[in-house]
Amino acid sequence: MVAFYLSQYDLYVYKINTKFMSSLANNYNRRKISFKYGKGSFLYSTSGKRYLDMVGGIAVLSLGHANPYLIKALTKQAKKVWHISNAFLAPEGEKLAKKITRNSFADKVMYVNSGAEATEASIKVARRYFFSKGKSYKNRIICIKNSFHGRTIAAIHASGSKKMVEGFGPKVPGFDHIDFKNFKPRFPNIRKKIKKNTAAIMIETVMGEGGVKVVPNKCLKYLRKICNEKKILLILDEVQCGIGRTGKFFAFEHANVRPDIVPIAKGIGGGFPIGAVLMTNKVAKCMTPGTHGSTFGGNPLAMSVSNAVLDQLLKKNFFKNVTKLSQYFLKELNKIKDEFPKIIKEIRGKGFLIGIQLHFDQSNFIKSLEQNYLLTIRASENVIRVLPPLNVKKIEIDLALKTIKKVCKEYK
Ligand SMILES: *Cc1c(COP(=O)(O)O)cnc(C)c1O
Repeated sequence: MVAFYLSQYDLYVYKINTKFMSSLANNYNRRKISFKYGKGSFLYSTSGKRYLDMVGGIAVLSLGHANPYLIKALTKQAKKVWHISNAFLAPEGEKLAKKITRNSFADKVMYVNSGAEATEASIKVARRYFFSKGKSYKNRIICIKNSFHGRTIAAIHASGSKKMVEGFGPKVPGFDHIDFKNFKPRFPNIRKKIKKNTAAIMIETVMGEGGVKVVPNKCLKYLRKICNEKKILLILDEVQCGIGRTGKFFAFEHANVRPDIVPIAKGIGGGFPIGAVLMTNKVAKCMTPGTHGSTFGGNPLAMSVSNAVLDQLLKKNFFKNVTKLSQYFLKELNKIKDEFPKIIKEIRGKGFLIGIQLHFDQSNFIKSLEQNYLLTIRASENVIRVLPPLNVKKIEIDLALKTIKKVCKEYK
């Protein structure tokens, strides 16, 4: 029946009827638009329109759509072997891990398949670390209230968002929360939160879903200091802000701090699902055979694509270019803000993790941008997230700026 429909009508008609005939679960509020293909920073809709894509699969498409180098890596691997499992040696994974460790704080890499899996595994590593030291009572994790670490049962309770945990009880114990308010300019209240049973502090270096809130460098430094002092671990969730998005390989490099554990995902795969936990030797030692596992973790296809992503990102001047162009983008956005102070409250972010905070609910504004062929996505606190590919061109940024300005002008 469905096959009949799809062969008879084009996807555009299908999408209109989606509400009535969709076999997909209803857990997303999908926009009524579908795409035939993408190329670089653009998506082409089934109705023949070209959209400038600054959603980027939610900070996933580091190198845009249909990047030839990534296509080559994927198809080359696809002809060799798709999947082997972790019962055998993993040369593609080894190669990627070397690239990551050579260019970061990390000594060891453990692969999973998504961001939530990476944050959960990070929690496991922190707890197992203290278990291996004979201190299994140290198992609580301090997180920021209304942060975002993914949608699994533990991750939603780590995030501490009432909305996300509602209806998914019983409550997963082991998490304590502090308010982001306490982050400015330092951490007046965090010392009191750290108890004898605290194992780690886990925060996003830049809070993505929470409204593109950058944790000040001073705060990160202070966090490192207090973690050293209290002998607990620092987990920095770089699932969204890592892998070049802020103009450095990792966002915490801006503050020059060295975390103990870092979950990554989104951008490293450039569109192919992958997650990983990066660790120092000190903590990685506790992850002995059998302590964690993932059937798909380190899958050769994911490894090959991620290797190709990093080949591009780690090229000389790539991050420099991200910094240069993103600073231009932010500067010009601030000019638009100054021109429309009644609409735009604040321009937030670092690198190409950009937030435009409005004075009011952003939904209609996002819709207007879309009607003008610019795709963006929401975040908390009335924020519109702008997430171009890291290799976006200046003329594409100018097109986005022109569109945002136009919508501001016409906005009632
Ligand atoms: C997206 C995100 C996650 C969850 O990633 P999934 O791949 O959706 O499970 C976790 N942490 C942060 C900071 C994220 O932005």
